[in-house]
Amino acid sequence: MSDCLFCKIAAGEIPSNKLYEDDTLLAFYDIDPQAPVHFLVIPKRHIASAAALGETDAALLGHVFAVIAKLCKDLGVDENGYRVVTNVGQDGGQSVPHLHFHVLAGRSLAWPPG
Ligand code: 5GP
Ligand code: ZN
Repeated sequence: MSDCLFCKIAAGEIPSNKLYEDDTLLAFYDIDPQAPVHFLVIPKRHIASAAALGETDAALLGHVFAVIAKLCKDLGVDENGYRVVTNVGQDGGQSVPHLHFHVLAGRSLAWPPG
């Protein structure tokens, strides 16, 4: 999608602090971190949000979570734990309309979220 911020980051048109990249996914640090470790995982293909996912996206989602598990292990936050969040729409707090998974770690996270 031509005017989508995360499509531009995925295409390398806007720089990001990358953690991981392959043919389908990109992981990069959030510009406004909410925890000592805060990165985002996005599909390179434009998907507006989790509300647009279907059964045919099963392999993509499995890959997303496998990459998150590996990155968290590599970053040394797997033992203490972490949170994976995807916000959907206005009430969900989504500000960028391209599917992304927040991964937050490095401190104890409150529940429920505000
Ligand atoms: P949302 O509010 O949609 O769930 O999350 C969007 C996230 O993208 C926010 O945490 C915000 O800080 C992050 N973000 C917005 N613009 C940029 C950017 O240009 N670069 C990076 N690395 N993160 C961004
Ligand atoms: Zn996009």
